[in-house]
Amino acid sequence: MDSSQIGVVGGGVVGLATAIFLQQAGYQVTLIDKEAPGMGASFGNAGLFADYARLPFANFSMLRKMPRMLLDKSSPLSMQFSYLPSLIPYGKAFVKACFPANYTHAKAAMRALQEHAQQADEALLNLTQAQDLIKSEGCLGLFASEEGFAAAQRGDLQQRREQGVELEFLNATQVHALEPNLAAFHVGGVFYPKTRFTVSPVELSRRYARHFTAHGGVILQDEVQALVPNDNGVVVRLSDRDISYDRVVLCAGLASKHLLAKLGIKVPIVSERGYHLTLDLGEKSLSRPVGWLDKSVFLTPMEDGVRLAGTAEFASADAPLNEARTAAMLDHAKVMLDNNPSIKSSWVGSRPSTPDTLPVIGSLERYPRITVGFGHGHLGLTFAAVTGQLITESLLGQTHKIDINPFSATRFS
Ligand SMILES: Cc1cc2nc3c(=O)[nH]c(=O)nc-3n(C[C@H](O)[C@H](O)[C@H](O)COP(=O)(O)OP(=O)(O)OC[C@H]3O[C@@H](n4cnc5c(N)ncnc54)[C@H](O)[C@@H]3O)c2cc1C
Repeated sequence: MDSSQIGVVGGGVVGLATAIFLQQAGYQVTLIDKEAPGMGASFGNAGLFADYARLPFANFSMLRKMPRMLLDKSSPLSMQFSYLPSLIPYGKAFVKACFPANYTHAKAAMRALQEHAQQADEALLNLTQAQDLIKSEGCLGLFASEEGFAAAQRGDLQQRREQGVELEFLNATQVHALEPNLAAFHVGGVFYPKTRFTVSPVELSRRYARHFTAHGGVILQDEVQALVPNDNGVVVRLSDRDISYDRVVLCAGLASKHLLAKLGIKVPIVSERGYHLTLDLGEKSLSRPVGWLDKSVFLTPMEDGVRLAGTAEFASADAPLNEARTAAMLDHAKVMLDNNPSIKSSWVGSRPSTPDTLPVIGSLERYPRITVGFGHGHLGLTFAAVTGQLITESLLGQTHKIDINPFSATRFS
């Protein structure tokens, strides 16, 4: 068994999953986060293990829609004007990713990840005894118009089927039978029977962190200033000291970009902010996540209320919460529920998004003692465990279960 000392930077769901699989493989692992584990993007997601997400966002049809969406204040897409310069490298790579050959390549890579994601999740959830936080009730994606539903059936939903996603089309009556508390705002939609969700993303991270420390892992709360690789390992520069590790795994979400930039490695990930509101529906509830696909919002029943999540706002990570975004989301929820729910809390956070929708996973060519796992965009919860397994395979020198070249950090150069 290899007992090398590994430092994992970032204790979001990706860093936690990675730390646990490395620990299980016999490494001595220290996890470093500037906050308590699970308080970054991993805190605020919609809780879906989104098995249906097998199509890259970057395609020419999306590109054509973007200008109109950016101008429409009620659309799910928005941009902070001052963030525009940071978006230029991302935008160029996004356009490149839209070309059919690149789209097809990314689609195949997403499918490959998805085909191993569920098994990886099961392994992690069983190991950490976190199955009680997971529900297997499937998930609904609804449409407000027959026209929109029919177009999706011919387009995206057909492509998803071809990508191996299990799905069923339901009419409004069938949806009502599953979710009687939903209003009749829809004409029906798609049901993904295999989709699971967590009732508490933050408790899931905490459960992972507890398992990790209970099995000898160390968690340091400090802000990593820089990574300094040398011939024998990597020095991690903290706020007031340096610590050396044999190898470092960088899983710091959006901040990974800045830490790599200090090493001269540019990766065009951006802050694609998402919001959530925790709603109190009183007597009403839902049994499973329900998305209104025309509006890109999801309602997920969680431990502390129903989480209304959505929005893609390209904006600086530290910009204030934009109340116009939460107001638009709340308007959609009122229509979905035919109810005026009270708001228990609101949150905004940054998805670490890549232009081609694929995460960045693997050891760096220039600095092989640094391995990375970040850039999971909308799918960090879904791909955390499989990322952790792939990184562990890399460090152990094992053959990967899938081709990881599509996830390389150098693909953008
Ligand atoms: C509204 C919304 C809904 C979403 N819904 C879903 C969903 O349903 N399903 C799904 O799969 N995904 C979903 N996502 C995406 C998912 O939440 C993210 O992809 C995922 O949380 C990314 O995890 P991470 O560990 O890479 O990043 P993070 O959770 O952001 O973790 C990074 C960690 O690094 C730490 N860090 C940063 N810089 C430093 C430093 N210098 N030193 C030390 N520590 C540092 C941070 O404190 C943080 O804890 C959603 C996201 C949002 C915003």
